[in-house]
Amino acid sequence: MNVADSQRVASALERLGLSFSRTPEEADVIVLNTCVVRQSAEDKAYGRLSSLKPLKDRRPDLVINLMGCMVGVKGHERLQQRFPFVDVFSSPSDTGPLIAYLTQGESRRMELDETQQRFALMDEELGEGSVLQLPSTERGRLVSAHVPVVLGCSHACTFCIIPYRRGAERSRPAAAILAEVRSLVTQGVREVTFLGQIVDRYGKDLPKGPNLAGLLRQASEVEGLERIRFLTSHPNWMTGELLDAVAELPKVMPHIEVPVQAGDDQVLANMRRGYTAEDYRRLVEQIRQRLNGHLPGVSIATDIIVGFPGESAAQFQRTYDLLEDLQLDVAHLARYSTRPGTVADRRFVDDVPEAEKMRRFRMLEDQQERIASQIAGRYLGETVEVLFEEKVKGRWKGRTTTNKLVFAETGQDITGQVLPVRITWAGPWSMQGVLEKLAERLN
Ligand code: SF4
Repeated sequence: MNVADSQRVASALERLGLSFSRTPEEADVIVLNTCVVRQSAEDKAYGRLSSLKPLKDRRPDLVINLMGCMVGVKGHERLQQRFPFVDVFSSPSDTGPLIAYLTQGESRRMELDETQQRFALMDEELGEGSVLQLPSTERGRLVSAHVPVVLGCSHACTFCIIPYRRGAERSRPAAAILAEVRSLVTQGVREVTFLGQIVDRYGKDLPKGPNLAGLLRQASEVEGLERIRFLTSHPNWMTGELLDAVAELPKVMPHIEVPVQAGDDQVLANMRRGYTAEDYRRLVEQIRQRLNGHLPGVSIATDIIVGFPGESAAQFQRTYDLLEDLQLDVAHLARYSTRPGTVADRRFVDDVPEAEKMRRFRMLEDQQERIASQIAGRYLGETVEVLFEEKVKGRWKGRTTTNKLVFAETGQDITGQVLPVRITWAGPWSMQGVLEKLAERLN
């Protein structure tokens, strides 16, 4: 059992980006998995533990975890008094305390106490009974508001700092979210976007639910609310039930943000995303099949990182080919840069030269501009519903159900109104149109 437990700990540590070291002197983390089945084994464990103290004295950032039966039998307190240099105590088979300590340790090192205070404040602000009061400058003017529904993230993609900064994933209670939505509507808001690092995991930690599909159904019943969006989804958690909710609920917009990050399976594995390029292709097909029922169809946005450590030209080409094949509406592009403290920072060398990262970035930028232009072209001459948000430089700015930016002109105040617009010009990043009644008159 101890061998199996040690393997489990090792595997959990590897998933965090650590690797095996041959000697205690080289290690950043030492796990002493103990056995008390015989006195000799117990004595040996005490001996080994005592021998680690000089190491800890020399390197206070060394993490020592005492695990196994010794802790299970004797409990933490007495051992803690006797071995104050031990950082973590864990019972047999329990890797949780060490992993929690290491991930929290990262955030402590990087963000010090400020982060913890921020989490506490965030949770308090977003907890039950909290209702967002918009600043007076936005009350009655803000049409589209963001509502966090999942805080933090526990996925730990190797490149990502967010889990360290925002803490472990936790869902806000549905009642608090709905109260906030109702309050926002009374303050003039017409559209809410539910936010989460992995928004489609909403409710996984709520014993009585709901899940995201359920939350969308409940929010759809809020009177006065016109539109609901949600972002960002993770491909692994996008369910048929969720897509059905999007398809069935008129207030939920056919607009899915689901990052792929790379089109090569090895790069995806190094990023620890948890899916393959083929999985992603299938998901896009599934989204389109379920949501393409109504004009102008569904809009799918993705995120891409170019120049991840070790990404070869051939691997990048697979990302390019994937985007070419899938013809997605939007690709948010980023060049990889190391975030200190992340797994990628510890495990990989940032070895793609900056000029090459830029070249790949530009290639995708040009490609996406072409794809977005083609998609926008399909809107030309069509009449689409636009929710107008504000007047910018003399023109009214709004968005289609698919989140396309549309500009139109009228002398009236159309803030917060959903109006039919005939599209007269369509470019890759925005469109222009004529309000339908106006268009009828012009014809
Ligand atoms: S990229 Fe997204 S899913 Fe991955 S760790 Fe960061 S926040 Fe979580």
